[in-house]
Amino acid sequence: MFSLFIKKMQRQTTRKKEKLEKRKAISFDVDSTLADTTKRWSRARDQVPSEGGPRFWNIFMSGDNYYLDQPIPLSRDFVQAYADADVAIIYLSGRRAGTEEQTRQWLRQHGYPEGSIYHRPPAVLTKPFKTRVLRQLKKEYDVLYHIGDSIVDDIEAAKAAGVPAIHVPPGQFNLVPSTE
Ligand SMILES: [Mg+2]
Repeated sequence: MFSLFIKKMQRQTTRKKEKLEKRKAISFDVDSTLADTTKRWSRARDQVPSEGGPRFWNIFMSGDNYYLDQPIPLSRDFVQAYADADVAIIYLSGRRAGTEEQTRQWLRQHGYPEGSIYHRPPAVLTKPFKTRVLRQLKKEYDVLYHIGDSIVDDIEAAKAAGVPAIHVPPGQFNLVPSTE
């Protein structure tokens, strides 16, 4: 009995130690959280007036059109404040896998700090994709938050992974950094 108790205590101590030793990370959705996609949406709608079909989505989701996006005010300063505090930055998005380089270019061009970029593989829904990545990240990092504009694809996805979630209104980043 007593040795079981000792083992349990040791396990708890190890877990606490692991958590202390893990680098902190913060995860961000991209579209409508950091990037205002209004112009990209308009581009798709100009070419395919009936929104929502595969042709529309192929234009909207094309990495070649990310350059049309505008940075959302405050979001860049927020991300930068965490990067400056040596928190690992994660960009976790339902954007199509294979367009990570265009995302990286856009982030650089608009002054967002470097970070790990995760985009969604084909035929996977965004919510389970984000849950899976966040669960994986928790093994390496102490993930402080996932921040995003979608209740399902960000907030519910993060909660399912046991990661605290912060909701921002689409296109209106409204958080103040707190790196204490
Ligand atoms: Mg979004």
